[in-house]
Amino acid sequence: MHIDYIIIGQGISGTWLSYYLQKNGKSFIVIDNNYSNSPSRIAAGIINPVTGRRHVEVWLAEEIISFTNEAYTQLGKELSITAISQKNIIDFFPSPQMRISFFQRIEEKAKYVSDYLEQDHFNNFFNYEFGCGEIKPVYTVHLDTVLPTWRKHLVAKNLLLEEEFEIDNLKIGKEKIQYKNITSDKIIFCDGTACAENPYFNVLPFAPNKGEVLLVEIPDLPPDKIYKKGMMLAPLSTPGLWWIGSNYAWEFDKPDPTPAFKEKTEALLKEWLKVPFKIIDHLAGIRPATLERRPFVGLHPLHPAIGILNGMGTKGCSLAPYFAKQLTDHLINKKEIHPEANVNRFQKILTRKSQVK
Ligand SMILES: Cc1cc2nc3c(=O)[nH]c(=O)nc-3n(C[C@H](O)[C@H](O)[C@H](O)COP(=O)(O)OP(=O)(O)OC[C@H]3O[C@@H](n4cnc5c(N)ncnc54)[C@H](O)[C@@H]3O)c2cc1C
Repeated sequence: MHIDYIIIGQGISGTWLSYYLQKNGKSFIVIDNNYSNSPSRIAAGIINPVTGRRHVEVWLAEEIISFTNEAYTQLGKELSITAISQKNIIDFFPSPQMRISFFQRIEEKAKYVSDYLEQDHFNNFFNYEFGCGEIKPVYTVHLDTVLPTWRKHLVAKNLLLEEEFEIDNLKIGKEKIQYKNITSDKIIFCDGTACAENPYFNVLPFAPNKGEVLLVEIPDLPPDKIYKKGMMLAPLSTPGLWWIGSNYAWEFDKPDPTPAFKEKTEALLKEWLKVPFKIIDHLAGIRPATLERRPFVGLHPLHPAIGILNGMGTKGCSLAPYFAKQLTDHLINKKEIHPEANVNRFQKILTRKSQVK
């Protein structure tokens, strides 16, 4: 069998790359091992235009968020699902200092932050002695619907191999690659943190980052917003089911959930919520983050049959569709990839002698 592309991974990156390649009439197969704790399978799907304590605008916010919103809306139409919803964040200030800092940002005319006029509106649900503000527009990607529905679509078209990809079986030529009984023009790695072990890309500055989350039943909470107080509390597609997280651990021994996170988060919920809740699950995943917080997109400078769409860090839901489209346009029409994302910026280390196979 000869095809145009082999894609490794059906997280949010592999999903979008396969979507755009299909739109362009290319032949491909996706190989994915269905690892249940991959970050795409446990993320909340939040697309937040600001970041950090100072609510600073995220990289390329305006352009990427409007692109992304349209892309998921279109995908949803094609798959007959709701793929994305606007759910603004109600930011409950955890301290008087945080309240002052938020209002300073409003005075500075920072985008996306605003006063929430009905300060008593959430009194039946939350304790919040220092008031709240609003971050908008914020979107939630319904990953728990999008990923399985796209997978079903791939399976129905015979485009998915549910198995472990083994790099030892990969043979790379100048123009062509071979994997078991498949030959293809190119192979593109969308395999998240696994790529840090890939002999072609392991010199890239990956900085894997572990995050934990609790899934909680809170039947009485209105699901039209995301709520924040130190952590994010976001509604999932199943009515009454909520996602609360996360933390960011740069150093960790094991990928497993920790009792410390559960205790801390349960204590927060007890102090914050006025309505009953029940913890259903506790998960942990490892984000494919990078040292300079920019993704890795493009073809290997020495092996142009090998590509990468990775390094989405904490923002895979917004970055993946945007850069999957750029990569597709690059592969098909040789269009430029954003220089801060193009993996070519690491040409020197990727072409070092030790990297040559
Ligand atoms: C707790 C937590 C919360 C998060 N919340 C958000 C959020 O709200 N918004 C947001 O935008 N981002 C969020 N993120 C980050 C987001 O999850 C990632 O940026 C994104 O999922 C990365 O997607 P990916 O497809 O590149 O990688 P992955 O999700 O890791 O997907 C890689 C895929 O490749 C498969 N794979 C790997 N190796 C192999 C192999 N050898 N053979 C076969 N298959 C293989 C895996 O099973 C997986 O399906 C969060 C992450 C965590 C951990």
